[in-house]
Amino acid sequence: ARPVRIAAQIFPYGDGRHLLLSRDITALEQAEAMRRDFVANVSHEIRTPLTVLVGFVETLQTLPLDETERARYLALMAQQGARMQNLVEDLLSLSRLEGSPPPGLEEWTPAQLLLAHCEQEARALSARILPADAAPHSFHFPDADSLQAAGELAGNRLELQSALSNLVSNAVRYTPAGGSIRVSWQRQQDGSARFAVRDTGVGIAAEHLPRLTERFYRVERSRSRDTGGTGLGLAIVKHVVQRHGASLQISSQLGQGTEFAVLFPAARWRATADATPAVPN
Ligand code: ADP
Repeated sequence: ARPVRIAAQIFPYGDGRHLLLSRDITALEQAEAMRRDFVANVSHEIRTPLTVLVGFVETLQTLPLDETERARYLALMAQQGARMQNLVEDLLSLSRLEGSPPPGLEEWTPAQLLLAHCEQEARALSARILPADAAPHSFHFPDADSLQAAGELAGNRLELQSALSNLVSNAVRYTPAGGSIRVSWQRQQDGSARFAVRDTGVGIAAEHLPRLTERFYRVERSRSRDTGGTGLGLAIVKHVVQRHGASLQISSQLGQGTEFAVLFPAARWRATADATPAVPN
Protein backbone atom coordinates (compact mmCIF):
# COMPACT_ATOMS: atom_id res chain seq x y z
CA ALA A 1 0.00 0.00 0.00
CA ARG A 2 1.24 3.50 -0.78
CA PRO A 3 1.78 5.71 2.29
CA VAL A 4 -0.65 8.58 2.62
CA ARG A 5 0.79 11.95 3.60
CA ILE A 6 -1.32 14.26 5.71
CA ALA A 7 -0.50 17.89 6.52
CA ALA A 8 -2.10 19.14 9.74
CA GLN A 9 -2.30 22.50 11.44
CA ILE A 10 -3.63 23.29 14.89
CA PHE A 11 -5.30 26.62 15.68
CA PRO A 12 -6.04 27.52 19.33
CA TYR A 13 -9.30 29.43 19.64
CA GLY A 14 -9.73 30.17 23.34
CA ASP A 15 -11.19 28.17 26.25
CA GLY A 16 -8.30 25.75 25.81
CA ARG A 17 -10.03 24.49 22.69
CA HIS A 18 -8.22 23.85 19.39
CA LEU A 19 -9.17 23.50 15.77
CA LEU A 20 -7.34 20.81 13.80
CA LEU A 21 -7.17 21.27 10.02
CA SER A 22 -5.84 18.35 8.02
CA ARG A 23 -5.32 17.84 4.33
CA ASP A 24 -4.26 14.85 2.20
CA ILE A 25 -1.13 16.01 0.38
CA THR A 26 -0.13 12.65 -1.12
CA ALA A 27 -0.85 13.67 -4.71
CA LEU A 28 0.76 17.07 -4.21
CA GLU A 29 3.95 15.50 -2.92
CA GLN A 30 4.02 12.98 -5.73
CA ALA A 31 3.67 15.75 -8.31
CA GLU A 32 6.44 17.68 -6.60
CA ALA A 33 8.73 14.62 -6.58
CA MET A 34 8.06 14.07 -10.29
CA ARG A 35 8.89 17.68 -11.03
CA ARG A 36 12.15 17.39 -9.09
CA ASP A 37 13.10 14.20 -10.96
CA PHE A 38 12.34 15.86 -14.25
CA VAL A 39 14.49 18.90 -13.50
CA ALA A 40 17.32 16.65 -12.31
CA ASN A 41 17.07 14.59 -15.51
CA VAL A 42 17.07 17.63 -17.77
CA SER A 43 20.05 19.12 -15.93
CA HIS A 44 21.95 15.90 -16.23
CA GLU A 45 21.15 15.58 -19.94
CA ILE A 46 22.46 19.10 -20.54
CA ARG A 47 25.48 18.82 -18.30
CA THR A 48 27.04 15.87 -20.11
CA PRO A 49 27.33 17.39 -23.60
CA LEU A 50 28.18 20.76 -22.12
CA THR A 51 31.12 19.32 -20.18
CA VAL A 52 32.42 17.67 -23.33
CA LEU A 53 31.95 20.88 -25.30
CA VAL A 54 33.78 23.04 -22.78
CA GLY A 55 36.59 20.48 -22.57
CA PHE A 56 37.07 20.58 -26.33
CA VAL A 57 37.09 24.37 -26.41
CA GLU A 58 39.85 24.37 -23.79
CA THR A 59 41.81 21.81 -25.78
CA LEU A 60 41.53 23.91 -28.92
CA GLN A 61 42.67 26.96 -27.00
CA THR A 62 45.67 25.37 -25.36
CA LEU A 63 47.05 22.62 -27.59
CA PRO A 64 48.78 23.28 -30.88
CA LEU A 65 46.76 21.03 -33.18
CA ASP A 66 47.20 20.35 -36.86
CA GLU A 67 44.36 20.92 -39.32
CA THR A 68 43.12 17.33 -39.25
CA GLU A 69 42.94 17.23 -35.46
CA ARG A 70 41.24 20.60 -35.33
CA ALA A 71 38.63 19.40 -37.82
CA ARG A 72 38.03 16.29 -35.77
CA TYR A 73 37.53 18.28 -32.57
CA LEU A 74 35.20 20.71 -34.30
CA ALA A 75 33.12 17.83 -35.65
CA LEU A 76 32.80 16.35 -32.17
CA MET A 77 31.81 19.75 -30.80
CA ALA A 78 29.17 20.14 -33.47
CA GLN A 79 27.83 16.72 -32.47
CA GLN A 80 27.48 17.72 -28.81
CA GLY A 81 25.84 20.99 -29.82
CA ALA A 82 23.36 19.10 -31.99
CA ARG A 83 22.58 16.82 -29.06
CA MET A 84 21.67 19.78 -26.87
CA GLN A 85 19.63 21.26 -29.70
CA ASN A 86 17.64 18.03 -30.07
CA LEU A 87 17.03 17.95 -26.36
CA VAL A 88 15.73 21.51 -26.27
CA GLU A 89 13.51 20.90 -29.31
CA ASP A 90 12.04 17.79 -27.69
CA LEU A 91 11.51 19.57 -24.38
CA LEU A 92 9.66 22.36 -26.15
CA SER A 93 7.50 19.88 -28.07
CA LEU A 94 6.69 18.07 -24.87
CA SER A 95 5.74 21.23 -23.03
CA ARG A 96 3.47 22.26 -25.93
CA LEU A 97 1.89 18.81 -25.88
CA GLU A 98 1.25 18.95 -22.16
CA GLY A 99 -0.53 22.28 -22.60
CA SER A 100 -3.87 22.85 -24.26
CA PRO A 101 -4.47 21.30 -27.68
CA PRO A 102 -3.46 23.45 -30.65
CA PRO A 103 -5.91 24.56 -33.31
CA GLY A 104 -6.07 22.19 -36.22
CA LEU A 105 -6.76 18.96 -34.38
CA GLU A 106 -9.74 18.51 -36.66
CA GLU A 107 -8.03 19.34 -39.93
CA TRP A 108 -7.65 16.60 -42.52
CA THR A 109 -4.14 15.50 -43.40
CA PRO A 110 -3.43 13.09 -46.26
CA ALA A 111 -1.90 9.93 -44.78
CA GLN A 112 0.17 9.74 -47.92
CA LEU A 113 2.09 12.87 -46.87
CA LEU A 114 2.74 11.49 -43.41
CA LEU A 115 4.00 8.20 -44.81
CA ALA A 116 6.21 9.93 -47.38
CA HIS A 117 7.70 12.07 -44.63
CA CYS A 118 8.43 8.95 -42.55
CA GLU A 119 10.17 7.33 -45.48
CA GLN A 120 12.41 10.35 -46.12
CA GLU A 121 13.37 10.64 -42.47
CA ALA A 122 14.07 6.94 -42.09
CA ARG A 123 16.30 6.69 -45.15
CA ALA A 124 18.22 9.85 -44.26
CA LEU A 125 18.74 8.74 -40.66
CA SER A 126 19.87 5.27 -41.70
CA ALA A 127 22.43 6.77 -44.11
CA ARG A 128 23.67 9.02 -41.32
CA ILE A 129 24.10 6.46 -38.56
CA LEU A 130 25.26 3.32 -40.37
CA PRO A 131 28.97 3.13 -41.16
CA ALA A 132 29.62 3.48 -44.90
CA ASP A 133 30.87 -0.11 -45.22
CA ALA A 134 27.98 -1.69 -43.24
CA ALA A 135 25.15 -3.66 -44.81
CA PRO A 136 22.30 -1.19 -45.39
CA HIS A 137 18.88 -1.45 -43.76
CA SER A 138 16.21 -2.80 -46.01
CA PHE A 139 13.09 -0.66 -46.03
CA HIS A 140 9.56 -1.65 -46.92
CA PHE A 141 7.00 1.11 -47.32
CA PRO A 142 3.50 1.02 -48.76
CA ASP A 143 3.65 1.13 -52.58
CA ALA A 144 2.33 3.98 -54.71
CA ASP A 145 -1.12 2.38 -55.13
CA SER A 146 -1.63 1.88 -51.40
CA LEU A 147 -0.47 5.43 -50.79
CA GLN A 148 -3.09 6.67 -53.25
CA ALA A 149 -5.75 4.87 -51.23
CA ALA A 150 -4.35 5.81 -47.80
CA GLY A 151 -7.04 8.40 -47.16
CA GLU A 152 -6.89 11.23 -44.66
CA LEU A 153 -6.49 11.57 -40.91
CA ALA A 154 -8.08 14.19 -38.71
CA GLY A 155 -5.35 15.89 -36.74
CA ASN A 156 -2.59 18.37 -36.43
CA ARG A 157 -0.24 17.63 -39.29
CA LEU A 158 2.99 18.59 -37.55
CA GLU A 159 2.16 16.61 -34.44
CA LEU A 160 1.15 13.51 -36.37
CA GLN A 161 4.24 13.83 -38.51
CA SER A 162 6.53 14.05 -35.51
CA ALA A 163 4.89 11.11 -33.72
CA LEU A 164 4.92 8.73 -36.68
CA SER A 165 8.43 9.63 -37.76
CA ASN A 166 9.65 9.21 -34.18
CA LEU A 167 8.50 5.59 -34.31
CA VAL A 168 10.16 5.02 -37.66
CA SER A 169 13.38 6.70 -36.49
CA ASN A 170 13.45 4.47 -33.42
CA ALA A 171 13.10 1.41 -35.63
CA VAL A 172 16.13 2.58 -37.62
CA ARG A 173 18.15 3.45 -34.50
CA TYR A 174 17.49 0.17 -32.72
CA THR A 175 18.04 -2.08 -35.73
CA PRO A 176 21.61 -3.13 -36.50
CA ALA A 177 23.08 -2.94 -40.00
CA GLY A 178 21.46 -5.31 -42.47
CA GLY A 179 18.16 -5.47 -40.55
CA SER A 180 14.81 -4.58 -42.03
CA ILE A 181 12.15 -1.99 -41.27
CA ARG A 182 8.62 -2.35 -42.52
CA VAL A 183 6.03 0.40 -42.36
CA SER A 184 2.43 -0.46 -43.04
CA TRP A 185 -0.84 1.40 -43.21
CA GLN A 186 -4.02 -0.62 -43.05
CA ARG A 187 -7.73 -0.09 -42.77
CA GLN A 188 -9.25 -2.42 -40.21
CA GLN A 189 -12.63 -4.17 -40.44
CA ASP A 190 -14.16 -1.74 -37.97
CA GLY A 191 -13.11 1.29 -40.03
CA SER A 192 -10.17 2.28 -37.88
CA ALA A 193 -6.77 2.84 -39.47
CA ARG A 194 -3.59 1.19 -38.27
CA PHE A 195 -0.12 2.61 -38.79
CA ALA A 196 2.63 0.13 -37.87
CA VAL A 197 6.41 0.01 -37.87
CA ARG A 198 8.01 -3.39 -37.52
CA ASP A 199 11.74 -3.84 -37.19
CA THR A 200 14.15 -6.77 -36.87
CA GLY A 201 16.20 -4.92 -34.28
CA VAL A 202 17.42 -5.43 -30.74
CA GLY A 203 13.93 -5.87 -29.26
CA ILE A 204 12.74 -4.89 -25.78
CA ALA A 205 12.38 -7.18 -22.76
CA ALA A 206 8.80 -7.41 -21.46
CA GLU A 207 9.62 -5.80 -18.12
CA HIS A 208 10.50 -2.50 -19.83
CA LEU A 209 7.38 -2.21 -21.97
CA PRO A 210 5.11 -0.52 -19.40
CA ARG A 211 7.63 2.27 -18.76
CA LEU A 212 8.82 3.03 -22.30
CA THR A 213 6.71 6.15 -22.77
CA GLU A 214 7.94 7.78 -19.55
CA ARG A 215 10.12 10.83 -20.02
CA PHE A 216 13.82 9.89 -20.13
CA TYR A 217 13.17 6.19 -19.71
CA ARG A 218 15.73 4.24 -21.74
CA VAL A 219 16.51 0.56 -21.85
CA GLU A 220 20.08 1.05 -22.99
CA ARG A 221 21.56 4.47 -22.50
CA SER A 222 24.56 4.21 -24.77
CA ARG A 223 22.71 3.06 -27.87
CA SER A 224 20.12 5.76 -27.34
CA ARG A 225 22.72 8.52 -27.03
CA ASP A 226 25.03 7.28 -29.77
CA THR A 227 22.20 7.51 -32.26
CA GLY A 228 21.06 10.96 -31.15
CA GLY A 229 18.25 9.94 -28.78
CA THR A 230 16.95 12.31 -26.13
CA GLY A 231 14.87 9.78 -24.18
CA LEU A 232 11.78 11.90 -24.89
CA GLY A 233 10.65 10.49 -28.22
CA LEU A 234 8.08 8.01 -26.96
CA ALA A 235 6.76 10.45 -24.34
CA ILE A 236 6.04 12.81 -27.25
CA VAL A 237 4.43 9.99 -29.23
CA LYS A 238 2.20 9.07 -26.30
CA HIS A 239 0.87 12.62 -25.93
CA VAL A 240 0.20 13.05 -29.64
CA VAL A 241 -1.53 9.68 -29.83
CA GLN A 242 -3.66 10.47 -26.79
CA ARG A 243 -4.87 13.79 -27.97
CA HIS A 244 -5.80 12.39 -31.35
CA GLY A 245 -8.01 9.80 -29.68
CA ALA A 246 -5.71 7.04 -30.93
CA SER A 247 -3.93 4.27 -29.06
CA LEU A 248 -0.36 3.00 -29.07
CA GLN A 249 0.35 -0.73 -29.20
CA ILE A 250 3.81 -2.15 -28.57
CA SER A 251 4.88 -5.74 -29.04
CA SER A 252 8.44 -6.91 -28.91
CA GLN A 253 10.67 -9.90 -28.57
CA LEU A 254 14.14 -9.41 -27.16
CA GLY A 255 16.76 -10.01 -29.85
CA GLN A 256 14.07 -10.49 -32.54
CA GLY A 257 12.48 -7.15 -33.16
CA THR A 258 9.71 -4.78 -32.24
CA GLU A 259 6.42 -3.49 -33.59
CA PHE A 260 4.95 -0.13 -32.64
CA ALA A 261 1.47 0.54 -33.95
CA VAL A 262 -0.88 3.50 -33.74
CA LEU A 263 -4.56 2.75 -34.04
CA PHE A 264 -6.67 5.69 -35.23
CA PRO A 265 -10.40 5.32 -34.54
CA ALA A 266 -12.78 5.25 -37.52
CA ALA A 267 -14.03 8.77 -36.78
CA ARG A 268 -10.55 10.15 -37.44
CA TRP A 269 -10.12 8.57 -40.87
CA ARG A 270 -11.83 9.23 -44.19
CA ALA A 271 -11.20 8.15 -47.76
CA THR A 272 -9.42 10.90 -49.69
CA ALA A 273 -11.87 13.54 -50.78
CA ASP A 274 -12.29 13.70 -54.55
CA ALA A 275 -9.62 16.06 -55.88
CA THR A 276 -12.01 17.41 -58.51
CA PRO A 277 -15.19 18.45 -56.76
CA ALA A 278 -18.40 18.18 -58.76
CA VAL A 279 -19.20 21.44 -60.49
CA PRO A 280 -22.50 22.81 -59.12
CA ASN A 281 -25.08 23.29 -61.88
P1 ADP B 1 15.35 7.46 -27.08
O1 ADP B 1 15.66 8.82 -27.52
O2 ADP B 1 16.23 6.95 -25.98
O3 ADP B 1 15.24 6.50 -28.21
P2 ADP B 1 12.49 7.06 -26.81
O4 ADP B 1 11.54 7.68 -25.86
O5 ADP B 1 12.25 7.24 -28.26
O6 ADP B 1 13.92 7.56 -26.37
O7 ADP B 1 12.53 5.49 -26.50
C1 ADP B 1 12.70 5.04 -25.18
C2 ADP B 1 13.47 3.74 -25.14
O8 ADP B 1 12.69 2.70 -25.74
C3 ADP B 1 14.77 3.76 -25.94
O9 ADP B 1 15.84 4.30 -25.20
C4 ADP B 1 14.96 2.30 -26.29
O10 ADP B 1 15.59 1.63 -25.22
C5 ADP B 1 13.54 1.78 -26.40
N1 ADP B 1 13.08 1.67 -27.81
C6 ADP B 1 12.30 2.54 -28.49
N2 ADP B 1 12.04 2.10 -29.73
C7 ADP B 1 12.67 0.91 -29.85
C8 ADP B 1 12.76 -0.07 -30.92
N3 ADP B 1 12.16 0.10 -32.11
N4 ADP B 1 13.50 -1.20 -30.67
C9 ADP B 1 14.09 -1.39 -29.47
N5 ADP B 1 14.04 -0.51 -28.44
C10 ADP B 1 13.33 0.63 -28.63
